[in-house]
Amino acid sequence: MSVVENIPHEPRAKRQRIEPNEPASSNTRCRHWFVRYGICTTCSSSVDKDQGQAFNYLLDGLQLSSEAVAVTKHLTTLVSCSNEKKLHLVLDLDHTLLHTTRLPCLTEAEKYLIQEAGSNTRDDDLHKWQAQGENPMVFLTKLRPFVRGFLEEANKLFTMYVYTKGNRDYAKFIMKLIDTKKIYFGERVITRDESPYMKTLDLVLAHERGLVIVDDTRDIWPDHKSNLVEISKYNYFRMNKSQQSQPYSELKTDESENNGGLANVLKLLKEVHCEFFRVQEEKELESKDVRLLLQR
Ligand SMILES: [Mg+2]
Ligand SMILES: [Zn+2]
Repeated sequence: MSVVENIPHEPRAKRQRIEPNEPASSNTRCRHWFVRYGICTTCSSSVDKDQGQAFNYLLDGLQLSSEAVAVTKHLTTLVSCSNEKKLHLVLDLDHTLLHTTRLPCLTEAEKYLIQEAGSNTRDDDLHKWQAQGENPMVFLTKLRPFVRGFLEEANKLFTMYVYTKGNRDYAKFIMKLIDTKKIYFGERVITRDESPYMKTLDLVLAHERGLVIVDDTRDIWPDHKSNLVEISKYNYFRMNKSQQSQPYSELKTDESENNGGLANVLKLLKEVHCEFFRVQEEKELESKDVRLLLQR
């Protein structure tokens, strides 16, 4: 159903002008598919925010109607599968690709990391940084082992998004660490600023049948669990004082590169990709669905 058809204050006379048998003409009501800064790009009318979904993260001021979203999702996946042989992948940040903690939260046994973060002894996996703003806090971010290899490999098979509960400034900093040249994600980074509550594929412009989510938090995806691959949580720093086992940070060790969360998920992603594109004729791709493959 079109959002446009549900506008409450539409004058009756205007609605009656559009009869099913009436030939298409300039009278045909525009459905305001693509809106920029509140103005329809087709008919130049003002369009309310609640008549569509904002996609500011892709292009400032961009808003799409629900029909435009549906068609764009459908076409994007169709073209991506046919031309590039790529599916789509939505990646969480915290505890999936990395672990970030505030400096004051470090235990005595972890404080050696402050020195290491600024030295050459760490292989580009530990970073100390300061947030902007009135009350600038200092953080340590530890990248998960194999994250760079994972992104390089996954990028060959998937068009990738980041979807984080962190804010835009945090995401920007992390992107500088893991995607300096914007090769992997481009502008496809969704944050708490656009999505303050649960995570939803409504904000991702690719069809659910060709899209896999990798996240350590299952419950944050209420409507799209059949697209989800739940990855083991990456906890590098001590999570709280009552934590029973010693964290990697205190043990001065880390998750395995070859047999850790990201390596294992990559194996699964490769299998899903391989199975999706295992067809006799290209036409068959149109009825393939990753959700059925992930069920197995
Ligand atoms: Mg997470
Ligand atoms: Zn319009």
